[in-house]
Amino acid sequence: MAVGVAKASLDRTRELLKKVCKLDYRTPLLSVSHAEATLYRLEAEWEAARLLTMKAAWMADNKLPNSKEASIAKAKAGRVANEVTLKCVELAGALGYGEDELLEKWARDSKILDIFEGTQQIQLLIVARRLLGKSSSELK
Ligand SMILES: Cc1cc2nc3c(=O)[nH]c(=O)nc-3n(C[C@H](O)[C@H](O)[C@H](O)COP(=O)(O)OP(=O)(O)OC[C@H]3O[C@@H](n4cnc5c(N)ncnc54)[C@H](O)[C@@H]3O)c2cc1C
Repeated sequence: MAVGVAKASLDRTRELLKKVCKLDYRTPLLSVSHAEATLYRLEAEWEAARLLTMKAAWMADNKLPNSKEASIAKAKAGRVANEVTLKCVELAGALGYGEDELLEKWARDSKILDIFEGTQQIQLLIVARRLLGKSSSELK
């Protein structure tokens, strides 16, 4: 859900920005506008969240223990969905806040993705436990 809502926001924002920006990925980052640079950074964050999610899902499909990877993916994807959807509202300017676009709705919807099924803080705790080899009573 987090990867999907962030993708929808990025796709729509890219469409809206195309009217005012060139969106030429060959241009060095230092030579593009702030809006373009922000979009590229968000896209990179989204790709990282997607790949982590795919990895955790692939491990589950292949019956490999994936508690650490699933928590890494959930922590990253929830945070990325929040950041991407909120930034997309900003990037779209007045349109982003309007109810004619879905951007503002996706931004409101995304907050829960960082909370339910384990908050980001709890996911990071699980990752730390796995990395350090500690039990839940040893690392709270
Ligand atoms: C809209 C919505 C829909 C939901 N749907 C479902 C559902 O369908 N099924 C279901 O079972 N649950 C559902 N939930 C519950 C959801 O999973 C919990 O709200 C979520 O897991 C957080 O638990 P909590 O509310 O008890 O927060 P708490 O555990 O009270 O935590 C409060 C805050 O403190 C942080 N925190 C807690 N412990 C630590 C710690 N040790 N270290 C650092 N930070 C910590 C948390 O990250 C959080 O930010 C839903 C919640 C909402 C808001």
